Amino acid sequence: MIDWSLISCGLRGHITYRPEESAYADRLRATTVAGEAWRCLRCGAYVAEEPAGSGPADLAPTPTRGRALRQLIILRLLAVLRAIEGTAWLAVGITAWFVSDRVPEFLADLKQAVPALEPATRTLGWDIDRSWLARGLDRWSEISPDTIILLGTAIALLGAVKWAEAVGLWLGKRWGEYLAAVATAAFIPLEVYELIEHVSAFKIVLLLINVAAVVWLVFAKRLFGVRGGIAAERAENEEVSLLTVEKAAEVRPDR
Ligand SMILES: [Zn+2]
Repeated sequence: MIDWSLISCGLRGHITYRPEESAYADRLRATTVAGEAWRCLRCGAYVAEEPAGSGPADLAPTPTRGRALRQLIILRLLAVLRAIEGTAWLAVGITAWFVSDRVPEFLADLKQAVPALEPATRTLGWDIDRSWLARGLDRWSEISPDTIILLGTAIALLGAVKWAEAVGLWLGKRWGEYLAAVATAAFIPLEVYELIEHVSAFKIVLLLINVAAVVWLVFAKRLFGVRGGIAAERAENEEVSLLTVEKAAEVRPDR
């Protein structure tokens, strides 16, 4: 299995700390040929450098590691996807506001052009008269600028929701996980409908990712009280810093 703690340390540097209490300090310190080395609180490697911080053991940094770190990486990948989607939706929605006046005219022109294009597209083996383009133009050519502004606003709002999901997931916030689970689940019927209308590999992949994301969020992150809910989540994340583990393993001097 990939050790994400090591990768994280490779990218961002080790986290070393000298506790004031000598009993704890002894557990994190080693003497090497290079001199004194301190155990990294994230990956557990001994680093032959002065500790980055020092102070009471209780104030030692508690880096995200192990299972919590793996989960944070998944949350952040999902956050990046949502940020890309949100940007695309916002761009479409805001563009709709600016071009709303010109769209009906443009669609009408395009509809008139379809019969003229018919012979050319027929040689390409594409029957434009009966294509999705002609059907779409039939359906949308009567659209009013007001309707376009309304649609644009709805699309931009959905883009804003996706950005909110992205921020919440990136920061690993509980509200972000709930928002993402609910919003993603709400979109799934629409995605299935879209897929029935027009199948594409991209849509299938996106749908599979979103279904997996909802299932993963609810079960792995224990939303809605599933698998013990937030209490079980906290208990499991008590697998915190190595220093905490070291403290728990402390042998009392009076024994
Ligand atoms: Zn490290």
